[in-house]
Amino acid sequence: MANQSPAVNPFETAQRQIDIVADLLQLNGGVRQVLKHPKRELTVNFPVRMDDGSFRVYTGYRVQYNMARGPTKGGIRYHPQVSLDEVRALAAWMTWKCAVVNIPYGGSKGGVICDPKHMSPGELERLTRRFASEISSFIGPEVDIPAPDVYTDSQTMAWIMDTYSMQKGYSVPGVVTGKPISLGGSEGRGEATGRGCSYVIREAAKELGIKMKGALIAVQGFGNAGSVVSNLLHDEQGAKIVALSDSKGGISNPDGLNPHAVEEYKHKTGSVVGFPGSKPISNEEVLQTPCDVLVPAALENQLSAKNADKVRAKIVAEAANGPTLPEADEIFFQKGITVLPDILANAGGVTVSYFEWAQDLQGFFWTLDEVNQRLERVMVGSYADMRKQAKAHSVHNRTAAYVLAIQRVVDAIRIRGIYP
Ligand code: GLU
Repeated sequence: MANQSPAVNPFETAQRQIDIVADLLQLNGGVRQVLKHPKRELTVNFPVRMDDGSFRVYTGYRVQYNMARGPTKGGIRYHPQVSLDEVRALAAWMTWKCAVVNIPYGGSKGGVICDPKHMSPGELERLTRRFASEISSFIGPEVDIPAPDVYTDSQTMAWIMDTYSMQKGYSVPGVVTGKPISLGGSEGRGEATGRGCSYVIREAAKELGIKMKGALIAVQGFGNAGSVVSNLLHDEQGAKIVALSDSKGGISNPDGLNPHAVEEYKHKTGSVVGFPGSKPISNEEVLQTPCDVLVPAALENQLSAKNADKVRAKIVAEAANGPTLPEADEIFFQKGITVLPDILANAGGVTVSYFEWAQDLQGFFWTLDEVNQRLERVMVGSYADMRKQAKAHSVHNRTAAYVLAIQRVVDAIRIRGIYP
């Protein structure tokens, strides 16, 4: 993304966020150290045969951050800017995310440094299968369960499931989530991140007295999460999408953009830029659009001390992981802007991943209505739990969500005790 600053190390941000809450909860010594360190890390360098007959060596990571509460869970991303510290941060955030919605998982994450936009489907399949094979002794339905993330999807998960199953000699659907329905995927998983986000936006708007019908929405990032949030806020809550962007740039229209039409346009042309009737704007301008709800749905480090005071939204709903730096959090808090933190706002994805895994293990599948009702219950309940902590400690929502999550992880660490 245009605004991403490579100077900011996301793992340092993740560790600072832990320190803020550890100070508040007076967690010191060994427990604080455990919270601030990933448990296991695997780096793999592996060759992939390219279409022209040559081969290239790629680097990938899988980090299992904390498994006190259960098997570790987290996506795999393909992106040129993947780094070990980014994967560590994302794995830490998965740990808190699973704890905040109280699903029985620890947190993990994976990534491969590659540019999927410039790879053929065959190259992507070979890269995925080889990476899956390299990490196969590290993952499993009772150990660590990958899922889609930035630039990976249900097809990627199908290849991982197949590769892992070939090595085992039998089908293991529970090794990954976010699979196609025909392979043991769950109804509703595809749109779960965006749907979960739309529920917490609705709850926050209700509490703040903002009417969602006609509310103005700006969305940075029009991928899986951003497009679904846009569609649902538009279709189910009657909101008006006034600005949108993707990695190529942004578009705006004060009369509202039809997100379905934009999606179709992006599908055809590869970008939202040039959508008929829209005005081209920069990514930065999307973040500064006057609106009721700003949804950062792209990558980390988008909102910093540099641009936070230019944000003119009432609610910032983090569909992306790690879009806001701690300095920006403070500015938002001072300005009375409500942040719906990533570990809650985008937890709908991993929540339905948990439903998918539970269905796979039982071999018994639920209807879309059942999935969405359970998802709504989890998101609405977790929002209320977070708000209770925010009021009890007089802190902003991110710290409140961290208090909730870190307390749950610390309880698990303490009650298990230290081995041996
Ligand atoms: N990649 C998603 C996230 O960041 C989903 C992870 C999962 O379903 O395990 O939350």
